[in-house]
Amino acid sequence: MFIINCPTCGAQHLVSNQHIKSIHRTSEGMVGYVRCAGGHTVLHHFPEAYPKPKPPASVIEFAQRTAQADAA
Ligand SMILES: [Zn+2]
Repeated sequence: MFIINCPTCGAQHLVSNQHIKSIHRTSEGMVGYVRCAGGHTVLHHFPEAYPKPKPPASVIEFAQRTAQADAA
């Protein structure tokens, strides 16, 4: 069971795996098309499944330095 956010209903629905129409692995992680209680198809991201790998430490450090430079 998991929660999806249906923009058409403007509400959250608690759904089970039976509501999943299809699952796709993308560069943004795992996404699925899930049917809400109102019958709408919602694109849902599964953040826990196949999380994006963390960037290397050098990239994180560069991003932090850039953010600090922007703030100053
Ligand atoms: Zn809906």
